[in-house]
Amino acid sequence: MSEKKIAVVTGGARGIGKAIALELAKAGNLVVINYNGSEEKARETKAEIEAAGGQADILQCNVADFDACEAFFKAVAEKYGRVDILVNNAGVTKDGLLMKMSEEDFSRVVDINLKGTFNCIRHVSRMMLKQRSGRIISLSSVVGLRGNAGQANYAASKAGIIGLTKSAAKELASRGITVNAIAPGFIKTDMTDVLSDKVKENIAASIPMGSMGTTEDVAKAAAFLASDGARYITGQVLRVDGGMAM
Ligand code: NAP
Repeated sequence: MSEKKIAVVTGGARGIGKAIALELAKAGNLVVINYNGSEEKARETKAEIEAAGGQADILQCNVADFDACEAFFKAVAEKYGRVDILVNNAGVTKDGLLMKMSEEDFSRVVDINLKGTFNCIRHVSRMMLKQRSGRIISLSSVVGLRGNAGQANYAASKAGIIGLTKSAAKELASRGITVNAIAPGFIKTDMTDVLSDKVKENIAASIPMGSMGTTEDVAKAAAFLASDGARYITGQVLRVDGGMAM
């Protein structure tokens, strides 16, 4: 058992999830870093947190797997007794034009991004209901608000997260659990590094603030929504996008 608040960050080994894990640890939470394939990176992130005086743990789970998520939260509950903060960050893209998109590519993205978020909320909510407190923060996207050519699967999954967030917020509000989403714009990570320089230039030109965001920009917003200061905020979608989706 730990005196610290227990935070779970899915996909916390790298990218935005890593920045969120570091920020939540800096705020004094014990962070359980979930990973799927990146065990080495998860170990590195844990070591980085510990080197800065924080506490972290790592635990593998494919968030798209309902039963594996149940076992994951059971393991966290057995070790730490509770989960105070859940950040649903795990996500993937598999871009392509709608007309040519395979059923497999549509399902894979929705299974990880949307069903994965459902799976984690579903299994953590029982614990949070018992505790009568909790913070759930899920990563949507500006693409879920506005759509994007070539990303029908991703946009659908990220728009779905907004509906899921608002429904869960309504169901859980009376039990002291807040549920919010963050909609980042274009943030520099492995996910966006695959874009060509030309596409990146066009994106930057479409952002009122003129440049892509950093993982820390998103992490600060997540840490705020997880903090005591955000206790009266629920069912919201916080845009961290340099003004893209005003
Ligand atoms: P990223 O660098 O590609 O990292 C993706 C993360 O998701 C990895 O940690 C990965 O873990 C994890 N993941 C993927 N499939 C998983 C699964 N089945 N189970 C558990 N974890 C899984 O992506 P990112 O840019 O940091 O994005 C993080 C989140 O922010 C995503 O939800 C993304 O949609 C959202 N977002 C990103 C941007 C952006 O511009 N970058 C904008 C808006 C929203 P492993 O490596 O261990 O598999």
